[in-house]
Amino acid sequence: MSISLRPLLHIGTRIGQSLLAQDCLLCQAASGGQLLCEACARELPSATPACPRCALAGARDVECGACIADPPHYDASCAAFVYAYPVDALVQALKYGGQLALAGLFARELHRRIGGARRVDLIVPLPLHPLRLAERGFNQAAEIAKVLARLCGIAMDAQLVRRVRNTAPQTALPWRERATNMRQAFACADDLAGLNIAVVDDVMTTGATLDEFARTLKESGAARVENWVVARTARGA
Ligand SMILES: [Zn+2]
Ligand SMILES: [Zn+2]
Repeated sequence: MSISLRPLLHIGTRIGQSLLAQDCLLCQAASGGQLLCEACARELPSATPACPRCALAGARDVECGACIADPPHYDASCAAFVYAYPVDALVQALKYGGQLALAGLFARELHRRIGGARRVDLIVPLPLHPLRLAERGFNQAAEIAKVLARLCGIAMDAQLVRRVRNTAPQTALPWRERATNMRQAFACADDLAGLNIAVVDDVMTTGATLDEFARTLKESGAARVENWVVARTARGA
């Protein structure tokens, strides 16, 4: 090869790499175009046995004491991961770093975790308040729900429920104040009579937001509400 051609080929290779290949988001090792290399993907903290109602990790897949004592409005919850490193970093990278491709990765993992035997009529992402949406430019839950709906072959509706109160971030509040903070946060004008609805969100912490959301859906007639979340925090996290 002549010396003069080398710079051109080099540029061509670089363009090709930026389009096709990318390094692992976590360890920067070559990942053959995947977001994560095989080793990092294998080590993600998969969800362990958990309460089928609130997805809180436990020793077995049985309903936890809190759900028995004070049943939430939702009927079931399923989490793909435990909210621990590096899933927490990946969730932040989607939400605040705009790494939208992560929505696809989360949706595929959730789809695998959910399995096929679900009777769900409609997928609804947890809505952001319009001001928050304008600030961020996208709703991470809707991005995940979009891919998940396609994988499951179930319709998705991101406009069904509106977030009518711009509540303080739940993370800024003590646990006991989180349920009060969410009260009347959502509004739904549609008739959902008899529908089985799956609500998609990125992280489930106390479940207060999802509980209020399920309450709103059931008030509009929903027969059953289950939560499909990327990650569930441990108790006290
Ligand atoms: Zn890696
Ligand atoms: Zn529970």
